[in-house]
Amino acid sequence: MTDKLEALSQPVGWTTQEELNEANGGVGWMFLSPMKQPDEIALYSQEYVTALLNENAELKASLSEWEDCKHDGATYHDMSGRERCGRCGADL
Ligand SMILES: [Zn+2]
Repeated sequence: MTDKLEALSQPVGWTTQEELNEANGGVGWMFLSPMKQPDEIALYSQEYVTALLNENAELKASLSEWEDCKHDGATYHDMSGRERCGRCGADL
């Protein structure tokens, strides 16, 4: 996790399911510290959620690069002398 994500990972506030249910008119209580109630909900900034989604998309993209490997990249020999794909590490 980057320093920026670490900083954003702190909730901006807390509320409860009851407060959300009662916020029909758009107004409900939000607290600045945890209330230690069973239905407590931590609230996170949109910036944090967006950063997590972006990181997730990047990881998925790099994962599919590995899964889709057809072994036409560089190869290397591992410590036992076997030739392996430099991208996915498969035994060739
Ligand atoms: Zn490969």
